[in-house]
Amino acid sequence: MANSVNIPSDMLPEDGRFGSGPSKIRPEQVAALDAGATTLLGTSHRQRPVRQLVGSIREGLESFFRVPDGYEIALGNGGASCFWEIACASLITRRAAYGAYGSFSAKFAASAAAAPFLEDPVIYKGEPGTYRLPEFTEDADAYCWAHNETSTGVAAPVRRVEGSVGQGAITLVDGTSAAGALPVDVSQTDAYYFSPQKAFGSDGGLWVAVLSPTAVERAARVEANAGLPGASRWVPPFLSLTKALDNSRKDQTLNTPAVATLIMMENQVRWLNDNGGMDWATARCAKSASILYSWAERSEYAKPFVADEGARSHAVVTIDLDDAVPASEVVAALRENGIVDTSGYRKLGRNQLRVGVFPSVEPSDVAALTACIDYVVEHL
Ligand SMILES: *Cc1c(COP(=O)(O)O)cnc(C)c1O
Repeated sequence: MANSVNIPSDMLPEDGRFGSGPSKIRPEQVAALDAGATTLLGTSHRQRPVRQLVGSIREGLESFFRVPDGYEIALGNGGASCFWEIACASLITRRAAYGAYGSFSAKFAASAAAAPFLEDPVIYKGEPGTYRLPEFTEDADAYCWAHNETSTGVAAPVRRVEGSVGQGAITLVDGTSAAGALPVDVSQTDAYYFSPQKAFGSDGGLWVAVLSPTAVERAARVEANAGLPGASRWVPPFLSLTKALDNSRKDQTLNTPAVATLIMMENQVRWLNDNGGMDWATARCAKSASILYSWAERSEYAKPFVADEGARSHAVVTIDLDDAVPASEVVAALRENGIVDTSGYRKLGRNQLRVGVFPSVEPSDVAALTACIDYVVEHL
């Protein structure tokens, strides 16, 4: 079948992957797989070579996030979705308070609501396209929200709820699409957790968490109490943060990890640090995002979805299109030309484009993308 629109090849970005996760994986990361083809791939994760890889990821992330004294990097299998269940099993004592303003922030709250041994969470709900932080809540022992709501392209502040430390509550922030792309002070959190298939441009399947000493103590206490006779809580080994941490401290994971994911992650963390770490990465993402937002502001048929400029994400950019320009047709035409994964979040149901502008994406490719969108809209 002929393409509906043929974009001239000199207009195309060098790399057409703009997904919000899974996201672009740099060729150098794939080359790292090749370099480890006989020394790492297909070898035991309990032996030195793979453990060194995990050690390098943990050290690299400590440096990237400038972790305060006593904070530790833990990792395990199952992605950020698994970390929500770990938090329900091992971190929330009785009741958590949530900021919920999109698909991902709401999912963690739903997990806590479903846990029979936890009290119903208190949910502070925000409209899609805005954020809402949890507010001080009398009997809350954990405050939870997402740094970047990937479904809507909204970035929220990361700072502790006033009074939360005094009441002994911990702060759990989902950094899945933010970590590596947006600035963060992890000292404002007790767990800042994420998956590697967004800004870290690796494959999915893993969760990583920056943990405070308070979170580590909380997990030890919650898990010890769950082991007492008559306790109603069940902490399966897979959801034990303490077990995950014990393994992480030995540069291992509780069960077998995807070594390829670790190799690509390790390469990305090193690449980010070698280029200047968080300052460099976040400036690069901010530049890419501003190319899109300012193009949309100038455009006659597009505009940024997030009204509050301060809440516009520098990691995942959402752009509303005029009703006369069906986003589904634009997305399909772009895909025919090798520009992929620019569709809005399905459940949001808007006439929208959504573009991942993680550090791996070249700002010049983002500029090329805007020209390609204009070309497609003109020629549809
Ligand atoms: C992608 C994403 C998740 C889910 O990550 P998985 O690795 O699929 O479990 C959770 N939270 C946010 C903010 C995300 O963007």
